[in-house]
Amino acid sequence: RAKNLGGNRFVLYNATMNRQSSDYVLLESDLNQALKQRQFILHYQPQMNSQTGQIYGVEALVRWQRPNGSLVPPNDFIPFAEHSGLIIPIGQQVFAEACRQTAQWQAKGRPLHKVAINLSARQFQQPDLQAMIMQILETTGCPPQAVEIEITESAAMENVAYTLRILKAFRDMGMSIALDDFGTGFSSLRYLKEFPITSLKIDQSFVHDVLYETKSRAIVKTVIELANNLGVAVIAEGAETQEQVNALQDLGCSVIQGYYFSRPLPADALEHFMNRYR
Ligand code: C2E
Ligand code: MG
Ligand code: MG
Ligand code: MG
Repeated sequence: RAKNLGGNRFVLYNATMNRQSSDYVLLESDLNQALKQRQFILHYQPQMNSQTGQIYGVEALVRWQRPNGSLVPPNDFIPFAEHSGLIIPIGQQVFAEACRQTAQWQAKGRPLHKVAINLSARQFQQPDLQAMIMQILETTGCPPQAVEIEITESAAMENVAYTLRILKAFRDMGMSIALDDFGTGFSSLRYLKEFPITSLKIDQSFVHDVLYETKSRAIVKTVIELANNLGVAVIAEGAETQEQVNALQDLGCSVIQGYYFSRPLPADALEHFMNRYR
């Protein structure tokens, strides 16, 4: 059962949980119920072009809203959802909702060109992933050009040949592809060459230390140059202060996502945020 370890932080999964444990069964039924009752909601975090002051895009981030009103952060249930396979139906709801909301914002003339949606490794094992996505784009009317798929290096590495094939299909459909948390996984530069990546997201751990740590600064600088040389976009994640934003801009990165500009917001609050950028 979910343990409340003080505050409102639930620990819903840990590595020692296995398929035999009763915790596992309870969680699986909790998550199944959450799916049926549509308790997964999306928050949206703006990605800002710090040079123009315009919104570059938003990232959709899932939360589990429990019936008691508490919000469970993704790191507390996504690993379990991946392990149990429930990430597949959860991911489908997430994708559909992000596309529905984006199409609606665009129809209302909101300045939103792009929504980034996270896909985990397990979702790439879903044989009908591409068909599912095509179906969602069609029924929601969300243009594929408005969708950026976020994958991590480890997700991409799990089955290289297959990942390559499906990413190419995504690109052919018109979607873009970001490599998330870049620099924290294990990947070869060869894959950067072979995968049809359209942007690199600099992990927040490097951004966090960019001001005071010469190694992080060197890594951030090099990733920006790498992205420029590859002709792909670069997005810095996790900027919390004006000083970090300035440092990133000085290093040549103008697209920035972080608490400095905004935390992830519920859809209605993001709409207010966007109204300031019309
Ligand atoms: P991520 O994709 O790297 O998302 C960025 C995370 O950094 C988000 O945490 C965001 O709230 C947080 N963040 C953004 N700016 C700042 C900042 O300035 N400071 C700090 N300290 N944090 C910042 P969140 O929403 O808790 O999501 C955590 C992770 O859960 C995501 O990391 C992603 O890997 C996963 N996740 C979230 N939504 C989904 C989803 O719909 N599907 C899948 N498969 N994974 C998801
Ligand atoms: Mg992400
Ligand atoms: Mg990230
Ligand atoms: Mg992450």
